Amino acid sequence: MNLATLIFRSPGEYTVTLKPAAQWIPERLDNRPRFWKARAVKQSIVTLDLEGVLVPEIWIAVAERTGVKELRLTTREVPDYDELMKYRLNLLAQHGLTLSLIQDVIGTLEPLPGGKEFLAELRSLTQVIILSDTFEEFAKPLMRQLDWPAIFCHRLEVENDRITNYRLRLSNQKQKAVAAFKSLNYHIIAAGDAFNDTAMLGEAHVGFLFRSPLAVQQQFPQFKALESYEELLTLIKANLA
Ligand SMILES: [Mg+2]
Repeated sequence: MNLATLIFRSPGEYTVTLKPAAQWIPERLDNRPRFWKARAVKQSIVTLDLEGVLVPEIWIAVAERTGVKELRLTTREVPDYDELMKYRLNLLAQHGLTLSLIQDVIGTLEPLPGGKEFLAELRSLTQVIILSDTFEEFAKPLMRQLDWPAIFCHRLEVENDRITNYRLRLSNQKQKAVAAFKSLNYHIIAAGDAFNDTAMLGEAHVGFLFRSPLAVQQQFPQFKALESYEELLTLIKANLA
């Protein structure tokens, strides 16, 4: 028997059944606030990669300035980030390249043409968080030029101006950040250019490859590949919750 159903019996076996409260209240007397009945409302966050999407590749600039050609390799070519970073740190040590020299190089970089305007317009429409595998020590001069957007990245270990190691705050942080935002009931639209973005794009509700190399596009055909900020902005707008 339904526990919410109460049965009273009179001596003459007359039975009165009361329905459960929610069914029993006629619609016009139901004065519960409307939002009790509404579905939870979705809001959006856009997560963007930094290098190759908003600013040039930092390590390519360092390779050009220092003449150490091997530093040109990036996450666009090497899927394993740990392997890539160890390779870079060894090269820095071999060539005696200091943190201040690299920061000088970064100080000369500017956002990609149109990148600053794209980000400003996007931030006027929705929340934007940059998810990058760069380091706080490298990002700062670029964040200043982009009017200080929120960025989640990593940190370096430095001794006497020499970069001795790097500290990932969290492995696979791009994908995990998107998963965490989703658990807060956000609708996530993500864009990135390289192998280290694909887990983020896969975790997001909508993922775009932006100016990404052919090898990445061929390996991940499930993500629409875009080339212009205009196109990216239009598609992000169309997918906002
Ligand atoms: Mg990138």
